[in-house]
Amino acid sequence: MKIIVAKNSGFCFGVRRAIDLAKNFSKNVGVVYTIGPIIHNPQVVNKLEKSGIKVIKKLSDVKNGHIVIRAHGIPKKILNDIKKKGMKILDATCPYVTRSKKYVEELSKEGYQIVIIGNPNHPEIKYISSYAPKDRVILLTSENIQKKLKYSKKLGILTQTTQSPENFTKIAAKLLRYSNEFKIFNTICPDAINRQNETVKLANKSDVMIIIGGKNSANTKRLTNISKKIQRRTHHIETADEIKKEWLDGSKIAGIVAGASTPDWIIKEVVKILKFY
Ligand code: SF4
Repeated sequence: MKIIVAKNSGFCFGVRRAIDLAKNFSKNVGVVYTIGPIIHNPQVVNKLEKSGIKVIKKLSDVKNGHIVIRAHGIPKKILNDIKKKGMKILDATCPYVTRSKKYVEELSKEGYQIVIIGNPNHPEIKYISSYAPKDRVILLTSENIQKKLKYSKKLGILTQTTQSPENFTKIAAKLLRYSNEFKIFNTICPDAINRQNETVKLANKSDVMIIIGGKNSANTKRLTNISKKIQRRTHHIETADEIKKEWLDGSKIAGIVAGASTPDWIIKEVVKILKFY
C-alpha cells in the first residue's frame, strides 16, 4: 500500500510560534499557566505540562504567577482580570487571530453591526467577539441566520480562521439581503485553506484517508468533514494506536492529513503503523 502524507502537515506557523514562545518564557521564569489548552492537541499539551507549561481551567485556579495567552486568544475581561492580579503575561495569540480581533474593534468603532461566522463556543470566537459591545456582535453558524438577523444599516462580516471558503461565501451571500452597506473581511487563515485544498486532492486519489489531530481541534474536524464528502473511508484519529487494520482492507493508497496542531512525532507513528499493516 502506498502512503501519501499531505505536504502541509504538522504544526502551522501559529501553533509552532505559541509553543516556542511558551517554552522560552518558561525557561526564563519557571512554571507558566495557560487558561485552557495552549493548542488543541491533548498529546502535545500533556508533554508541555511536564516541561512546566500547565493548563488551568479558570484564572481563579491560581493566585499569582505567569500566564501565557494561548494561540486562540482569551476574552478581554479575562485579560483585564489577569492584569488586575498583577500577573506577568506573555501573549502567544496567533497573529491571524489577533488580526481578526483588530477587525472587530475597527468595525465596532465605525458603527457596524458585526457578524462573525463560526462556532460560538470556540475560544477564538469568544476572544474576538469580546472586543465589541455584546449587542453589536451576532455570532452566526450556517443554520441560524434567519433567527439571528434583522436589517442593519451597516454590516461588517468576518469568520473563524478555520472556516472553509465555500461555507464563508455561501453564508456571506445570504447576508446580502440584511443591509445595503457591507465591509467583509476574509479572515480565513491561509494555512487552513492550503490544508483544505490538499485534503481535497488527496481524498480524490486515496482509497482510505486518515486525518490526524485533536478531537477538540476545529481545523482537524473541518478537514475530516471535507475528506468524508469525497472519501467515505475517512477516519479521524488523535494517535496511531486508534488505527484499525480493517480500515485499510483492499486499499492501494492511504492518504494522511494532519491538523495544524498535530506534532510530527504523531504523524511519523501513524506512517509507521500503516507500513506495518
Ligand atoms: S491554523 Fe492559522 S489561525 Fe490557527 S493557529 Fe495556525 S496559523 Fe494561526
